[in-house]
Amino acid sequence: MCGIVGYVGRRDVTELLLSGLYRLEYRGYDSAGIAVQAAGMNQPRVLRCSGRINALKALIEEAPPAIPPGTPCVGIGHTRWATHGAPTTANAHPHVSPDGTFAIVHNGIIDNYAKLKKRLQEKEHEFRSETDSEVIAHLVEECYEGDLRSALAATVEQLDGTYGIVLISSRQPDTIVAARNGSPIVVGVCENETIIASDVSAIVQYTQKAMFLDD
Ligand code: GLU
Repeated sequence: MCGIVGYVGRRDVTELLLSGLYRLEYRGYDSAGIAVQAAGMNQPRVLRCSGRINALKALIEEAPPAIPPGTPCVGIGHTRWATHGAPTTANAHPHVSPDGTFAIVHNGIIDNYAKLKKRLQEKEHEFRSETDSEVIAHLVEECYEGDLRSALAATVEQLDGTYGIVLISSRQPDTIVAARNGSPIVVGVCENETIIASDVSAIVQYTQKAMFLDD
């Protein structure tokens, strides 16, 4: 089971996500990735690779997301313990929707993913990974009618299995949405920012106010 982290606020989002992932690295060594989004970007910028967080750090240093300091932004990060699909870059999270505007990270196993994937493929959806998780990004795009929260709510209604999911989108660049069932999600509430993680260890350095979500 993997480690996930999410952030909404004005800090250096890339740095915050990386530091969270280092704290969660013991949860999965197969691959690592982040997606970040600020207003004005057409799509979340996704950086991911097979291997450990150090490899991701090197990738980010080569081509850092150009978000000016103090800009409001959102971001998600993931360190993977592969359950469906090899530990490759293509299978690394975050996964994006076909139009590239939605990005998700997922901790858990979607038991009915094959059936969902088949239905989506019949509607011409092209899949880029072998994971169970990618269906979530496709379903969110299909369910989106102007509200990110409703899109994720309509998506999770179709899922059987376990999940901690965090979602961002260029359609609502000031919003982050999370859902869980059987996989932990903790929300760290700070004054003008929020941090979400699968484990409180990624949050404690920023706030003592942590809420453990119910399924
Ligand atoms: N089932 C997903 C995958 O294989 C998530 C695994 C995890 O929780 O790390 O990509």
